[in-house]
Amino acid sequence: MKLAIFDDYRLGVVSADEQSITDVTAALPTPHDPDPVGASWWVRMCRDFPNLRGAIEAEAAKGSARKIQDVTLRPAALNPSKVIAAALNYMEHVEEMRTVTARVGSADTGAGEAFDVFLKAPSSIIGPGGTVLLPRGPVAEKKEIHHESELAFVIGKPGKDIPPERAFDHILGYTIALDMTVRGGGDRSRRKSYNTFTPIGPWVVTADEIPDAHDLEIHLTVNGMVRQHVNTRDMRTRIPEIIAYASSVFTLLPGDVFSTGAPPGVGEVFEGDVMDVSISHIGSMQLNVDLE
Ligand code: MN
Repeated sequence: MKLAIFDDYRLGVVSADEQSITDVTAALPTPHDPDPVGASWWVRMCRDFPNLRGAIEAEAAKGSARKIQDVTLRPAALNPSKVIAAALNYMEHVEEMRTVTARVGSADTGAGEAFDVFLKAPSSIIGPGGTVLLPRGPVAEKKEIHHESELAFVIGKPGKDIPPERAFDHILGYTIALDMTVRGGGDRSRRKSYNTFTPIGPWVVTADEIPDAHDLEIHLTVNGMVRQHVNTRDMRTRIPEIIAYASSVFTLLPGDVFSTGAPPGVGEVFEGDVMDVSISHIGSMQLNVDLE
């Protein structure tokens, strides 16, 4: 099932052919709250999805579908307590970052090139069709601002100290994230948390529809030119180990978003660029780039 947040933060089910969307907000147990600041319905839905699934499917079957282009898709995440991202999770990306480091003095490879996780500010999230804004300060300092296209997943069942063999039980579904990044020295979480630096979308595909999360094709173009194309089998720390490690640090809460790390091919974006990102079995989204 493809779960989308749309218009005034309503819940929709997207058709298998991605051409239409049906409003299933009425299947939720609480009255609709259109205020995204106060809305906790999405987080509750992530937690309670196994119990709500039947009602959502019934509502999707009886509702009237609208064309997907007639609605505004919102980010496929609403008020997550955290966006957790994996660092240096594809070996070829680790290698290319040595070159980037030599050029811009990035701190990204300073910790022995070891796998780790870090946090991105949830306030940096935007949705499909949105515009990534290149922040004034780093632009004035001529910093490189890079795209990183990543497989992301959303937590359903909460947990702490989750063993790898139970990790997939905690995933509601999968989506696409861009981890926009200012290169150079300084704290990684700050450099990746400017407003608009975390596009997430176009929807969440529930885990039952992803046959193998480690056999997905990530594809990103900038102005039609292929920049990143990788299969998720090349991740060096896989999803169960990412979840086990992160949940040894903090409790994973429903609605939390994980981004699993950049494939090779990261590079600069500039004012006026158009990024298209897709992942097989999930979908695609387009983002524009402009100056703040
Ligand atoms: Mn990244």
